[in-house]
Amino acid sequence: MTKIPVVQSYHLANDLELTTKTNLLGMSKLALTQFFADLGEKPFRATQVMKWIYQFGVTDFYQMTNLSKKLQEKLSLTATITPPAVKFKQFSDDGTRKWVFEVAGGSLVETVLIPADDNKQFGRKTLCISSQVGCALDCSFCSTGKQGFERDLSASEIIGQLWVANQSYMENVPVSERENRVTNVVMMGMGEPLLNYDPVVTSMALMLDDFGFGLSKRRVTLSTSGIVPKMYDLAKDIDVALAISLHAPNDTLRDELVPINKKYPLDALIKAAKSYVYDENPRHKKHVTIEYVMLGGVNDQDEHARQLVALLKDLPCKINLIPFNPFPHAPYQRSSNNRIHAFSNILNNAGFVCTIRQTRGDDIDAACGQLVGQVSDKTRRAKQWQEKVAKNLQS
Ligand code: SF4
Repeated sequence: MTKIPVVQSYHLANDLELTTKTNLLGMSKLALTQFFADLGEKPFRATQVMKWIYQFGVTDFYQMTNLSKKLQEKLSLTATITPPAVKFKQFSDDGTRKWVFEVAGGSLVETVLIPADDNKQFGRKTLCISSQVGCALDCSFCSTGKQGFERDLSASEIIGQLWVANQSYMENVPVSERENRVTNVVMMGMGEPLLNYDPVVTSMALMLDDFGFGLSKRRVTLSTSGIVPKMYDLAKDIDVALAISLHAPNDTLRDELVPINKKYPLDALIKAAKSYVYDENPRHKKHVTIEYVMLGGVNDQDEHARQLVALLKDLPCKINLIPFNPFPHAPYQRSSNNRIHAFSNILNNAGFVCTIRQTRGDDIDAACGQLVGQVSDKTRRAKQWQEKVAKNLQS
C-alpha cells in the first residue's frame, strides 16, 4: 500500500531556483499542457498536476503518486511550484485571517480571509485577493491608493494568495484528506484588477476550473472602479460575478472620490454594466453588485440615495453599503449607523436588495480600506498626501 505523506510545510524556492526553473503555479491549463508537450508528455499530465497543486496543495513532485518516477525526476529538475513567500500572518479571534506576502522584488501585498458570521469550520469563507502592488487610481477614501502604484502581480502571485489561504487549513492533514476551505473569492484587494487584465483572468480561470479550485462562477467576483473598455472584454472572456466600486451617485462627487470617473463617467459605466448583465448568451447570466462606501456627510444623504435609485433603475443589481474604515490621516469619517440604515431604507423601498457590510477583523487591521495596514510605503505619494492633510488640519 502506498504510504500517504503528511506534508508539514510547502516548498519555497530560492531566487536561483525561480530564475532557472519554470513555476507551474498560475500557469493556464493551456500553457501547462504545452509545457508537458515540450517535455514529450501527454496532455492529461497537465490536469493530473493541476489537481495535485490546487486540490491537494502538493508542491513536491515526488509526492504526486500517479506520475512516473522518470517524470517526477524530470519535473524536479525543470519546474517548481512556488507560491509567494509569507512575510507574516495574523489570525483574528473572529476567524479573520490576514497574510502579508513578499513578492518578487521585495514588494509586499496583503490578502484577507473573512469567514461567515458563525465562523463554522466548513462555513463560507471569503478571500479578498490583491491584483497589484499599490494602485494608480488614487481613490480619495482608499488607503491602498495612497501608496501609489508599484507593479502588477503575476498570475502565480495572484493565485498563490488563494493557494496559501487554503493551505493554512491543510497543515498536518494527510494528502488524501485535504480539501480547500475558501468558498468565495473577491478580487477586491490592493489594485485595480482590470488594469492587470491577463494575469487576473488567467487566475480566475484557475479558480473556476474543475481541475483547479473548482469554485462556482457565482463565487468568484471581480471588483472594478470602472475601467469601461475592459468590462466589455471581461464579459467575453470569462463568466464571473462583477462588482462595481461606485461610491457616488453623480459625476461631480464621483470625480472627487473615484478620479477614474473623469475618464469613464457614470453614463459609460452604467452602460457597460448593463451590457455585462444582458449578455447575448442566456447561459451567461451575470450578476452585478454595486459597492458604496458610506462616508459621513459626503455621500450618505437622502438626496444621494434618491440619485442612486434613479441612476440604477434599469440595472439589475444588488447594492452593498460599506461602512468606511478610517485609517491614519483619512479625510473622512464613517457614517453613523442611523444614517446608513436611513440610506438603506430608501434603496429598499425603491425595490433594491441592499445589504450593509459587517466590519470584520478590526483587531488585526484587516477590514476593507485598511489593506495598506502594515505594507511598506515605497513611494513618496503617501508621504506627500499625509503632509497635505496635516497642513489642511493646521490651517
Ligand atoms: S479603491 Fe481600489 S481602485 Fe481605488 S485606489 Fe483603492 S485599490 Fe485602487
